[in-house]
Amino acid sequence: MRDSITLTCKECSHKNYRTTTARAANRLEIKKFCRFCRKHTMHKEQKK
Ligand SMILES: [Zn+2]
Repeated sequence: MRDSITLTCKECSHKNYRTTTARAANRLEIKKFCRFCRKHTMHKEQKK
């Protein structure tokens, strides 16, 4: 099963990344670059 995952910046709440993953849908937090904050911020996985 592939789930559609949205990665949302915790600081500005922009949805910066959308991806699909075959992993079990844990709600993880990943450090990724946010172009709106212009720095690396924590991003939260949201299952759609
Ligand atoms: Zn941001």
